[in-house]
Amino acid sequence: MKGVLKLGSVSGIKIEVHWTFTLLLIWVAFLEIQQGGNLDRILLNEALILVLFLCVVLHELGHALTAKRFHIKTQKITLLPIGGIASLEKMPEKPGQELLVALAGPAVNVVIALLLALVVPVRSYFNFDAIVTEEMLYEPSLQNFLFYLFIANVMLVVFNLVPAFPMDGGRVLRAVLSFKLGRVQATAIAASLGQTLGFLFFVLGLFFNPFLILIAFFIFFGAYGENQMVKRNSLLEGHLVKEATLTSITLLSPENSVQEVINIILAGTEKDFVVVENNEVLGIVTQKVIIKYAKTPMVLVKDIMDKDFKMVDAAMEITKVLELMGREKKDFFPVALENKSIGAVDMTNISEFILLESAKN
Ligand SMILES: [Zn+2]
Repeated sequence: MKGVLKLGSVSGIKIEVHWTFTLLLIWVAFLEIQQGGNLDRILLNEALILVLFLCVVLHELGHALTAKRFHIKTQKITLLPIGGIASLEKMPEKPGQELLVALAGPAVNVVIALLLALVVPVRSYFNFDAIVTEEMLYEPSLQNFLFYLFIANVMLVVFNLVPAFPMDGGRVLRAVLSFKLGRVQATAIAASLGQTLGFLFFVLGLFFNPFLILIAFFIFFGAYGENQMVKRNSLLEGHLVKEATLTSITLLSPENSVQEVINIILAGTEKDFVVVENNEVLGIVTQKVIIKYAKTPMVLVKDIMDKDFKMVDAAMEITKVLELMGREKKDFFPVALENKSIGAVDMTNISEFILLESAKN
């Protein structure tokens, strides 16, 4: 993500904060000034936001470190004004594991809230009449600060457990349904409930809180996207790369010039190429690179090809290639069958394969 500030890393997981987070701090100060608050109260509120987001980081680490126990890596945790996002490589497919990963985040906030309840006389805040409590809460004191933090953590637990997939509660629901219905059907149900709740959040957001609108979009499109992905992966189950390999492709020689490649691109529909010499794959050249060197048509392929490529085995599952594409941020790979180059695989061809497979069902 662009415009992020790196805060550090925990257990190999980068922790970043997005620049829009500063808008939240400004907004909080603005609200306080509008209500006639003094500097003490502004600082207290800003500190509360910062400590609250520390709790959010711990929540996300709860997810990430539990996923790590199931050998799922997390690249980073990003803090946005609407909360934190842990970029897990994937969610565990076993429902029991997904259940634990989903619950681990809110569980962290439960622990924090319980610890705070030990030092803050929580009950005393609920024993006075409303006016006394309001006066008591207005005082900028450490006890009030911890009380607000307690309430915020309780709210984090409650809010995250709303069964709006892909929020934590929605994941819990999907995992529980998966035990009985299987992952595809469970996801479909959790996603439609998620989208319905997303729509409800949107409407509530219009009247009450603009942050809910942002969260509504996140839920609505997140639910749609994950449902599509699960359907796609189930369709691809058991299908191997060789079924979606481009075998009639032009192989480039390292001595080809950029101009020669431009001619090939314009004469057909190929965009990315494998560079081969004596049956050995030396590198790949993408359309993007050719465009970059279009001004210097005499440059040779061997000088611009990407030598840092991964060879994909024809017997690999297609879903594994999709994971590889996500990880490597590349969508074109040479394919080998028993160590001999037989072609290449790209996203366009896999999409075509999915389309043809779904037409069969
Ligand atoms: Zn969570």
